[in-house]
Formats: sequence, C-alpha cells, structure tokens
Amino acid sequence: MKRILFVFLDGVGLGPASPSNPFSTENTAFSMLAGDQRWTQPFTNRSASDHVVRSLDATFGIEGLPQSGTGQASLLTGQNCAEMVGRHFGPFPHSETYDVLDHANLFHKVQALFPTHPAPTAFANAFPPQFFETTRRRSTVTTRCCKAAEVSLRDIDDLRNRRAIPADLTGQVWRDRLDLDVTQRLPAETAEVLAGAVQDHALTFFEYFLTDKVGHHRVDVLPSTLLKDLGSFLKALVGALDPSEVTVLITSDHGNLEDTTHTQHTRNPVPLIVHGWAAPYFEDAADLSDVTPGIVRALRSKNAPTK
Ligand SMILES: [Zn+2]
Repeated sequence: MKRILFVFLDGVGLGPASPSNPFSTENTAFSMLAGDQRWTQPFTNRSASDHVVRSLDATFGIEGLPQSGTGQASLLTGQNCAEMVGRHFGPFPHSETYDVLDHANLFHKVQALFPTHPAPTAFANAFPPQFFETTRRRSTVTTRCCKAAEVSLRDIDDLRNRRAIPADLTGQVWRDRLDLDVTQRLPAETAEVLAGAVQDHALTFFEYFLTDKVGHHRVDVLPSTLLKDLGSFLKALVGALDPSEVTVLITSDHGNLEDTTHTQHTRNPVPLIVHGWAAPYFEDAADLSDVTPGIVRALRSKNAPTK
C-alpha cells in the first residue's frame, strides 16, 4: 500500500525575506524540502516526479485575513469553505461548513478507497488525559473531521507505545506543564516515532500548531528556536521514510509566523511541499482546496485493486 503522511503546519506563509521574517534565516531542512530555496518570496515552483514544491493561495480572492476555521476546512474537504461561509472565519469551524466536514471530509474520502482496511486513516497527535476530561470543548476543524469519520483521537498510552506523537514534538509540555510521566524526546527522535506510526495507514495526519501560536505571541518561544526544532523534525522525518512508499505532504492554512512585525495572520500564499511518489498529483495545485483532491487521486491511482 502506498501511503501519504500529511504534516499540517498552522500559520506558515511565504513572505518577503526580511529581518522580521524568521524563514529568512538559512535552515538546511526547510531549504532541502523546498528544492534548495528558502521559504520566502519569490518562491519558485518545482516539479519533479518525486518532489513538487508550490505556493498555494490561501485567500480565495476574498478580502480580509484568512482564518483557520475556513482555511483548514478547505484543506480537509477540497471545498472552498471561505466562499461557502462568505468570508474568512476562525479559529473554529463555521456552521455553514458542518455538513461537508461531517459527511465528506478527507478521512471519509480516503476510507472509501479502502473498504476492507481496518484503519486506512489516522490522526497522529497524542492528546493528554486533561483533554478527554473536558466534555464541553469546542471542536477544531481537525477534531470535528476525526469524530465525523470515526478516526480515534490518540491518548497518553498511544504516546507511550509510539503510536502517536506530542504536538510540541518533544513532550516537554506534557512533562513540565501537565506534569505527566512521558519520555522527553528530541524532535528528530519524535520524527522516527512518527515514521514508524505511519506504516499501518494509507493516510496519516499530523497537526503542528505552535507556528501559529508563536506568530500570535501566545507562546513564549522565539521563532528561531521553534523553527530550528521544526526543521530537525522535518529533516529526520523525510530521512526516515522511503519516498517510493510514503509521501510526505507539508502545507499550511494561512500565513502568520513569517511576519513578526504584528501578531495577526497574513494574506501571503502558503507553501505546498510534496516529497515522494504522490508528487505528480499536485503539479497543478493552486489553492487550499486542491490538497484533498490530490491526496484522493494519488491514493486511488496507486492502490486501485487490479482486475
Ligand atoms: Zn491563528
């Protein structure tokens, strides 16, 4: 089975190089993923049989700042959810998008391709016990999609058994802030755990939201420190996977962290990196709504039952 690992980075856009853009600093991991260029504008599209790099429009031509509710919904359904709502909306999903999120999201579409597989789709983030104790928590786009498609939310046991990884890539938040007994790992070690966990599923999704939180100044971490960790993680992840078997797809919902002169989102395009066998299915991707159809087409074509 050919597999795809979808690494979603919240709030990462492609802005002009400047001292206030942390992506201006050379980072070999990011450059390697983008085909020997920084994640800044001008950003050149690349198209090879095993590596496609593009910038995606996150605005849909709609005024205002793109938001996670409509942006993530567009990424995870293949529909233009900002148009559906009539504006950018977030951070939580808008009620106008509930129907498509609940009945036709990416997980549903991939599951339909593998009717006899016990778990074709997975969400690799681990959630702490505190998360499950709060019953009135609002769903994000991702957790709503998972619930609707019966993709289980993984817990501390999954984290300990290397079936899930912590959202902060190290487990430090679990240890220091939540006082939980979990192993602290380097980002590169966590990447190896994730590389092992993807093997059983056609599609594995991982959500990294610290990029957006740091962009909003809601977490006290320097952007440079954060990107160093994220770069180590991504480099180790790509290095641990065979690109002829597992494609790593990296993208975002809107810009934010690339402009540290303010704490809001931006209208910048976002990067799309597709490293591995599925690359050709994304050669024409132009906006957030092109990601889900590309994933479905790729998995369908390469895993179709032979007659
Ligand atoms: Zn945000």
